[in-house]
Amino acid sequence: MSKTIKKIGVLTSGGDSPGMNAAIRSVVRTCAFHNIECIGIYRGYQGMIEGDFKEMGPRSVNNIVNKGGTILKSARSKEFMSPEGRKKAHDNLVKAEIDAFVVIGGDGSFTGALVFNKEFDFPVIGIPGTIDNDIFGTSHTLGYDTALNTVVEVIDKIRDTASSHNRLFFVEVMGRDAGHIALNAGIGAGAEEILIPEEDLGLERLVESLEKSKLTGKSSSIVVVAEGDKTGKNVFELKEYVEEHMPEYDVRVSVLGHMQRGGSPSCFDRVLASRLGVKAVESLLENKTNFMVGLINDKVALTPLEQAIKGHCEVDKELLRVSDIMSI
Ligand code: ATP
Repeated sequence: MSKTIKKIGVLTSGGDSPGMNAAIRSVVRTCAFHNIECIGIYRGYQGMIEGDFKEMGPRSVNNIVNKGGTILKSARSKEFMSPEGRKKAHDNLVKAEIDAFVVIGGDGSFTGALVFNKEFDFPVIGIPGTIDNDIFGTSHTLGYDTALNTVVEVIDKIRDTASSHNRLFFVEVMGRDAGHIALNAGIGAGAEEILIPEEDLGLERLVESLEKSKLTGKSSSIVVVAEGDKTGKNVFELKEYVEEHMPEYDVRVSVLGHMQRGGSPSCFDRVLASRLGVKAVESLLENKTNFMVGLINDKVALTPLEQAIKGHCEVDKELLRVSDIMSI
């Protein structure tokens, strides 16, 4: 059933990512542009359940386009997983006369939005905000480009110390289920090897490759490892394995951790956030619901939330070949 949308809520949910603030700003200002009221919902779905709302005008989002994190705060809400929790959330939205919401988050947040829509016929649109880039229906999620730049910058620094001491560094980056960050940042930073969840290169091949590098005159190496890589060993076990098989190497480990989620968003992420926010609001105004806005072939496009959640965002395996050639 279509209804006139006069007030839109916006929330950030799940893990935060750089660019979320730029997306909030875009949603708020697009609402103002179309003379629609906008309500900020704090702390994700938990804030929805608790009625933690604040009216947002175009001036309330001044000076945030460049800020990491999210001014609305993010949260994971167990209570929203239950029908009772969602009922409370719906009651609050109705009380505040909110007609639709835009949720900025990952596939868990989209699942919550879809369940909510099915229960209450409530219009929802998702904006993909996660550094992992593992969402189907967009070539880039918000924060991914910034995370790549952060990782490359840090590996460049690690390389300085690796080459000064003839060291081998294992650098662990985020990506429990997807190797996008490892693969792209690895190539960008000139890693010798890249280990990702999608492909099992095998430990013997890793040692062989490092030995080959050594023979061709390389005295230091960087191996980028995604958290969820398929060797079945964590980064410290990998270090032990290589030390055992290549005692001549001084092996070190660096786990980059949460620094990858932080920082000022890149220009790409700011522009992406601005574009996705405009499309999200305008889609709701056209009575479209249950879609995710994303980037497909450089154009902003809608993908049904259901597909975005269920679909698989494959890594480009050609990049593994490129990486192999680069590390000759
Ligand atoms: P990230 O990619 O950073 O993990 P995410 O959006 O996938 O982000 P989740 O913690 O999986 O993060 O989900 C965020 C919130 O969405 C959950 O805390 C919960 O409130 C809601 N949610 C997730 N799955 C469901 C579900 N099946 N039903 C209702 N709500 C859900």
